[in-house]
Amino acid sequence: MVHEQRLSELLVDFARTLVTDFPIQAILDRLTSRILEVLPVTGAGVMLMGSDSDLHFASASDKVLLQIEGLQVELGEGPCLEAYRTGQRVLISDMGADKRFPRFGPRAVESGVAAVFGFPMRIDGRQIGAVDLYRDKPGALSADEVAAGQILADVAAAYIVNARGRVASQEAEEEQRYRALHDPLTALPNRTLLYDRIAHALSRARREPAVPAVLCIDLDRFKVINNSLGHRAGDRLLVAVTERLQQALRPGDTLARLGGDEFVVLCDDLAEAGQALSLAGRISNELTSPFQLDDEEVVITASIGMAYAREGHETPEILLQDADTAMYRAKEQGGARYEVIDEQVRSQAQQRLGRENDLRRAIERDELRLVYQPIVSATDGKLQGMEALLRWQHPRRGLLLPADFLPLAEETGLIVPIGAWVLTQACEALQRWRHHTGAEALRLSVNMSALQLARPDFVVSVAATLHDTGTDAAQVCLEVTEHVLVDEGPEVLRTLDELKELGIGLAIDDFGTGYCSLTYLKRVPADTVKVDRTFVAGLGSDQQDTAIVTAVVNLAHSLGMTVVAEGVETPTQLARTRELGCDLVQGYHLFRPLEGADFAALVNS
Ligand code: C2E
Ligand code: MG
Ligand code: MG
Repeated sequence: MVHEQRLSELLVDFARTLVTDFPIQAILDRLTSRILEVLPVTGAGVMLMGSDSDLHFASASDKVLLQIEGLQVELGEGPCLEAYRTGQRVLISDMGADKRFPRFGPRAVESGVAAVFGFPMRIDGRQIGAVDLYRDKPGALSADEVAAGQILADVAAAYIVNARGRVASQEAEEEQRYRALHDPLTALPNRTLLYDRIAHALSRARREPAVPAVLCIDLDRFKVINNSLGHRAGDRLLVAVTERLQQALRPGDTLARLGGDEFVVLCDDLAEAGQALSLAGRISNELTSPFQLDDEEVVITASIGMAYAREGHETPEILLQDADTAMYRAKEQGGARYEVIDEQVRSQAQQRLGRENDLRRAIERDELRLVYQPIVSATDGKLQGMEALLRWQHPRRGLLLPADFLPLAEETGLIVPIGAWVLTQACEALQRWRHHTGAEALRLSVNMSALQLARPDFVVSVAATLHDTGTDAAQVCLEVTEHVLVDEGPEVLRTLDELKELGIGLAIDDFGTGYCSLTYLKRVPADTVKVDRTFVAGLGSDQQDTAIVTAVVNLAHSLGMTVVAEGVETPTQLARTRELGCDLVQGYHLFRPLEGADFAALVNS
């Protein structure tokens, strides 16, 4: 007999689980225990199958029956498994007399199971498991009882599917939340989470006597390691560094990674400021012993900048900015050290910010211009080309040379738009001079910075500039310093290959200062080598410089490259470069960099 009232209570109870947060196992346990109140059976069980037909969840009103559920999956046969597989009820009122499950039947009887009724749990025409009713004495279920059993199985199926969906979306949500706040490589908090924690620390510091401090940690020479050992090794190093940093922290400190090799520690409750200094010391210590990456032993150091919250530090951005400024200062002083922000550093940083804004506006305000230094043949002095050199006519500071502002342009990334402007200007100038006799044979050299070369759209944008200005690629030579080639690693070679394919000439600038290996030099698709002026300066007086220039000329010529001697300042130097076999010369002895109009006049003459 079905206990109608209890059946409806059970269904209401189920409905409640829909809106509350019961996990699947709890829903099943509740079902199996309460079925006994509704139907005249001695036990109940549920098996829930996964899409791979494995048992995902099982529940039963007692331990023995739980084993019976599992046993069916193990043996691959049994009434409940059959109900799940076929989607049909399997009603066995006398297990001892039934012959359908030869392996399962006797084991069930042995465990005291005399009758089994399996009801498929179905949803949208497919089965997800079975509800099983057991009796310890043989005997059939009435038609009403069978109908109630199936209702329970159907309702349970609906709720389980719902609960599964809830669990899956909860997991996805948690995963998403985690990912939005953590760095995937090291699993450390990311910028967003760090800002949040700093904001918390700052607001706490307003109520309690605590001093939050922030330490910015940047690895020295990480880029070089990354380039020479590869990005995978670089990633492993970052993970290993993370572990070491964690060793140095106190409980409660937050370690975050803001990207690249930039780590930040937040100490939110220093009793006194000096504690941050000892933390910086511990961090430096942790990093001193070498890191083992495969066969490579890597030694690294870090530059650390520290800032304490003070009045006026209303936002996490400002506190971080101060720590970052201190870190840059540690870098400027050669790295492997730590610096604390102070008023002097802060005001220097402010000045820097002002200069950065000036530079940002220099293009718009038309304060940049190019001068052109002629490059002539070493043998007959004939004009062969010119190098475009950047100048900044600063409204207050007067005429600035690249050395005065290029470092800032590089640091801030402004060199990218400035560099694009330089190339366009130089190409346009070349077009203006085209009708002058001999100008079409001149080669225009333009300097490129590492940051420009690293842009994925660099080659495309150069091609576009040449096209837009109607410039023949063969008339343009891009100069890249030897330092860039050495520091930037193999990716830069790919870019240079692509430029060469466009028909553009390539020169290695300031050659001799960057320790480029011969094997590497062979792979650089350059057609020209420019001997650095420090070696040219010693020609005639310094034996060593003479030897170096001789070696460079021989090497370059054997690789089929043209040699330019830079910085020729005296007749002696000119004579020596000629004797040593340099093809072209450039320097104050021949020409200083000229304004565009003066250069045009020179070509015309
Ligand atoms: P660089 O490419 O090696 O250019 C040659 C530098 O040597 C120029 O300095 C030039 O004025 C100077 N120079 C030429 N002849 C002599 C000489 O006989 N004696 C001496 N002492 N110096 C001489 P400048 O114009 O100050 O440029 C310095 C560096 O700035 C350049 O070295 C180049 O690396 C960089 N630069 C210049 N313009 C640009 C540019 O548009 N973009 C980029 N990325 N870098 C540029
Ligand atoms: Mg140059
Ligand atoms: Mg040079």
